[in-house]
Amino acid sequence: MRCVVAVPPIEDFYYTPHRGSFLGAHIVNSILKEHGYESHLICFPNLYKKPKKIPLPKEISYLSDFIVNKETGPISFFSSYKRFGPDYKDAAHIVNSYKPDIVFISCFAFCYAMSSIYLAEEIKKIDPGIEIVLGGTGASVFPEYYEDTGFFDDILIGLAEHVLTNFLGMPKKDKPVPALVKTKTTKKWRYYSSYLTRGCPRNCKFCSVPMLHGRKLETIDKYILENKIKEIDSKKGIFLNFEDDNVLYKWNFFIESLKEIKNINKDIMFSCENGIDYRLLDERRLNELINLGFRQFNFSIGTTSKKIALEQDRTVDLSRLMSLTEILDKKQIQAIVYFISGFPRESIEDAIFNLILLSGLGKNVRIGLSLFYPIPGIPGFENKDQFKKISPILLCSSSAWPWNNSLSTEDMITLFRLVRLVNLTKRKDLDNFYAELIKRCFKEKRLYTLVRGKENPVEVGCYNKYMVKLFFDGIKEDLWS
Ligand code: SF4
Repeated sequence: MRCVVAVPPIEDFYYTPHRGSFLGAHIVNSILKEHGYESHLICFPNLYKKPKKIPLPKEISYLSDFIVNKETGPISFFSSYKRFGPDYKDAAHIVNSYKPDIVFISCFAFCYAMSSIYLAEEIKKIDPGIEIVLGGTGASVFPEYYEDTGFFDDILIGLAEHVLTNFLGMPKKDKPVPALVKTKTTKKWRYYSSYLTRGCPRNCKFCSVPMLHGRKLETIDKYILENKIKEIDSKKGIFLNFEDDNVLYKWNFFIESLKEIKNINKDIMFSCENGIDYRLLDERRLNELINLGFRQFNFSIGTTSKKIALEQDRTVDLSRLMSLTEILDKKQIQAIVYFISGFPRESIEDAIFNLILLSGLGKNVRIGLSLFYPIPGIPGFENKDQFKKISPILLCSSSAWPWNNSLSTEDMITLFRLVRLVNLTKRKDLDNFYAELIKRCFKEKRLYTLVRGKENPVEVGCYNKYMVKLFFDGIKEDLWS
């Protein structure tokens, strides 16, 4: 039996190929090969270097009020919508060129559901006899959404190690399958992604990890991963990024694995770019990670607001966050602190307080913002029927949809721009032009941006001026002066 495992093209404002490892699709491909099937993996979002600009979908046409024509530079919002990968017809022909009997489509996020549906439709147009099976977390959260389309012969719900093996008539795997995927190559470095654990014992309401991957932390067989690492030609330096949900819960296993990997290649560097839980770190642990080769720390904090955290079944430990970032700042090791905005009952004041607090964490601490979007089935969004009536595109973080009727789209996009402004103030290579842009925003307490073809900064057309004033009134002057 010939198989193709396909990750459909992505349509969005942005996509970072370096973050597109698609570990799930790689795991499916390796299980199929292990069982003797001929299998080809096609990650369409990574196929072409340049994305294609496409019109803004009508479902998110409300964003056109916030898009500044020809906007450019470090404090811009998104300016154009794109497809990463070929159009669906071409993608289907590429799939068909392998003459597959069966195609496994991997939908890694429900917000991209339509891409899986369009690809399946085009494949069926070429040859209705090709069996199409849909899997991935974007399918598992709401399988009924795809059933009615008639393009899928089967929908696999759950982890590939369980459901794919069952589908193939094989015994289920008792451990997650290790994967090691090259994501980028530069002159000096090769970047890889992998994972060591799956699942998270915590249960933050906004997060789908426990629902999809379980609350029991499972570990991979690290010796299989280590053997894969041994096979890497080590002429260039290696950056290994772990995509675990919460690897720090298995601290001893994690440290042991890092040490063993270091024994294979002492120059290897590590990161956890999906974010690690700062609440499980202290100075000793932080130093241990630095000594083992961590050169960047991505902390997922959810929120700094105790009120919001409590409602989301999460805790906040601000003094710990501050002391960790202070240590990193002194050592000049970069940290990125990710927070979410748009929670239920979050006010404009909450959002700005959050940002002001994070802005003061140090020159080497950048801020990452994720705008709230639900996953069908998480608390507050258990009624999945509501997602049948709307476009899945609204569930992209970049769509800035006001899911909780707390912050509006305008508020969230204003916050997005302010986050970028704060990050700009922390850049080491600031030239006079950017310094002037920052100064003007801070002096006038308004939002300015850069537009191609215009010599001077222009004021952004659509933003929440009250929110911006609140920010500039509350921020310390030394951030920009
Ligand atoms: S947000 Fe992090 S800590 Fe909370 S449930 Fe998700 S993975 Fe676990």
